[in-house]
Amino acid sequence: MQHPFNNNNNKSFGQTWSDTFGTSPPAADVVHKQSLWEGPGIQRDQTTVESGLVTCDHQASFRAAAAPHSGDWLYALPISSCGLRMDDESVRVAVGLRLGCNVCVPHACVCGTQVDACGTHAFVCKRAPGRIARHMALNDVVARTFVSAGVPVTKEPIGLARQDGKRPDGLTLIPWQRGKPLTWDVTVAHTLADSYVSTAARSRPFQETTESPAFFSSAF
Ligand SMILES: [Zn+2]
Repeated sequence: MQHPFNNNNNKSFGQTWSDTFGTSPPAADVVHKQSLWEGPGIQRDQTTVESGLVTCDHQASFRAAAAPHSGDWLYALPISSCGLRMDDESVRVAVGLRLGCNVCVPHACVCGTQVDACGTHAFVCKRAPGRIARHMALNDVVARTFVSAGVPVTKEPIGLARQDGKRPDGLTLIPWQRGKPLTWDVTVAHTLADSYVSTAARSRPFQETTESPAFFSSAF
């Protein structure tokens, strides 16, 4: 395959591109791949943005926003009947959190904590309204997923032995693997929570035994 830069008309563009990004243009056999052309520019812009992030919160927000699939919700079609349509205030807060912007006026929470302009305390405050409702909504999504796949489940089953006295968020009513049912637990990890690092570093949240059901955790 003849490299397009063998054409004199394209040589100047190729040289300009090389001078701009400090690397050679893609080889002839991959010259048609757009990602190879735009990659160096994206990398340069990302480096520029990252170098301007001075606080840990902003750096964490940026890394979270750059993580694979963290922006998938932006592709959801706003279909009201499916519960996918967000009101304007929800969009404002969601985008503000994603970009690390201020979303509220600093104030004192009912729990006594001083809330900063980022407003992220609401995600970890045990007295925040809607905290339980959000957890139940997520658990409903997991339960409905199993039911849609033909697996009957029960939510928050009573009587399963656990060392910490808590109960899982759900249990399949038929065997899932090796003759055992499956239990699950839904948790919401908050990137900017003070306790996040130590929590993430902990080992499995549930200690399995040979008698315990198979287990998986769902982190949102
Ligand atoms: Zn609070």
